[in-house]
Amino acid sequence: MDCIFCEIASKTSEAEIVFENEKFIAFLDINPVNYGHTLVIPKTHFDNFLTMPAKELEEMTKLTQYLSGVIKRALKADGFNVISNNGTSAGQSVFHFHYHIIPRYENDFHMRPRTIEYNSTEIEVYAEKIKAAVSKYEGLLNG
Ligand code: AMP
Ligand code: ZN
Repeated sequence: MDCIFCEIASKTSEAEIVFENEKFIAFLDINPVNYGHTLVIPKTHFDNFLTMPAKELEEMTKLTQYLSGVIKRALKADGFNVISNNGTSAGQSVFHFHYHIIPRYENDFHMRPRTIEYNSTEIEVYAEKIKAAVSKYEGLLNG
């Protein structure tokens, strides 16, 4: 499969690796939004958040929590964003699941380029749509 993150995981492409164990690898993003912007990936290919098996997702999320704390300390960051883009519309450009860890400093930049406003009833309409789906798809995993 033609996947740059699989190549990084198998060491057939280079990356600035900051952590590795049997199942996961973390390396610096080559097009970072801040210094130290790190990507955490499973060595096995899964397309996105929805297709990650629960066990691997749990392990990777714990690892991402640990690495976030380590990066925050190492770079004396004030905070950090943990982000997962899913689908082209959400900005996903590499279709091998990954978390972004982005170190943040007071007043460095705005992460939200826009916000929208609900009109008076819309917020309830959207809540109802989601709540109905929560009932309908109770227990559904993997989208
Ligand atoms: P996303 O847009 O959420 O799919 O994130 C993919 C990220 O991978 C982008 O931020 C890219 O800058 C980064 N990226 C793509 N190719 C490489 C590479 N060879 N080494 C490190 N980071 C990469
Ligand atoms: Zn892959």
